[in-house]
Amino acid sequence: MKKVIIIRYGEIYLKGDNRNYFESLLIQNINYVLKGFDYSLKRIRGRFVISDFTEEDEIISRLSYVFGIYSYSLGYAVKSDLEIIQKTALNVVGNGKTFKVSTNRADKLFSLNSQEISAQVGGFILENIPNLKVDLHNPEFIVYIDLREDGNTFLYSNISEGVGGLPVGCSGKGLLMLSGGIDSPVAGYMMAKRGLKIGGVHFFSFPYTSELAKDKVIQLSEVLSKYNNGMDLYIVPFTKIQEKINSLNTTYTVILMRRYMMRIANSLAEKFGYKAILTGESLAQVASQTLESMTVTNQASYLPVFRPVIGMDKEEIINISRKMQTYDISILPYDDCCTVFVPKHPVTKPSLASIEKLEKLLDLDILVNEAIENTELIRIE
Ligand code: ATP
Ligand code: MG
Repeated sequence: MKKVIIIRYGEIYLKGDNRNYFESLLIQNINYVLKGFDYSLKRIRGRFVISDFTEEDEIISRLSYVFGIYSYSLGYAVKSDLEIIQKTALNVVGNGKTFKVSTNRADKLFSLNSQEISAQVGGFILENIPNLKVDLHNPEFIVYIDLREDGNTFLYSNISEGVGGLPVGCSGKGLLMLSGGIDSPVAGYMMAKRGLKIGGVHFFSFPYTSELAKDKVIQLSEVLSKYNNGMDLYIVPFTKIQEKINSLNTTYTVILMRRYMMRIANSLAEKFGYKAILTGESLAQVASQTLESMTVTNQASYLPVFRPVIGMDKEEIINISRKMQTYDISILPYDDCCTVFVPKHPVTKPSLASIEKLEKLLDLDILVNEAIENTELIRIE
């Protein structure tokens, strides 16, 4: 009897010829989060199995950050032998008075079929543990028995949900525009879930926004990095550009700022190999997130701009940010540069012609290049 953690992956299973690539990447990512622990990891058909480990709680908690894992169970692996299976089943009874046994038999050569195995094991549990009753329709716990093709059987009574998605890195790299707010970390999480390895870019307007605001972004990146196998965070000194934009004193301040952010993000992306820009914009949430505003922001980007929370209500975004554990950091009260310089009545239907006139006037090329040159890279492992 060997203690094991059985890991199941969902969508990867559907990937025909590429399955091997996805499986290998997922294994690589699991090994990344388990660096420093003692364990062995084996690939069997449709599952991964971790064994020979000691720090069980810590390992399980790390697995809950790995995209690509749909569920996992702590249980036992034994030889596919009815007597051994019966005895081991006594170790996986859960809490409660009623139970059922559910058997999956991938090993079609085993002498009993799955119903017979369930009946034999259920009977053995009843004989050996007093006061338990079988309830096939509404049991308080289930003893799962999984007979694999290789002559081994897994037994467990818990199935914990993983974060799902695809292994980080399988979709390439994306650069997340990361403010200190609630929405952008959620946007990063959602795209990492689809396999993008994310980097973060933060536009920092010191002293209009304080060192604390920067710390907050670093803290958010640290949480994101757990799902992302580390993360590179680029801090762009944005003060001079922002002051210049602000000196125009127009209702276009925010939209101009956003276009310059977009351009700088594109340059950094090109320099460091990111193939998409990600933002936490949600349709009509604020003036810069109307369809018209986003159209002119897009026109400053040649890379695709992904906005995974575009169709979500604030409440839905907050729920994800709680689940991914960034909410408590996001609500810390530090100003973001977008909020410091917001005009009283920002334009909601900006015209590209007016913007282009203003940008000509601003003549920011030198300052933009300077900002890119002076960008600080913070590498979170
Ligand atoms: P968030 O909750 O993510 O801060 P928000 O609702 O406050 O979003 P805005 O301030 O309009 O919205 O910003 C929209 C998006 O622009 C953000 O989700 C983020 O992707 C990006 N963004 C805003 N400010 C910054 C910044 N200082 N640095 C990097 N990206 C930013
Ligand atoms: Mg914000």
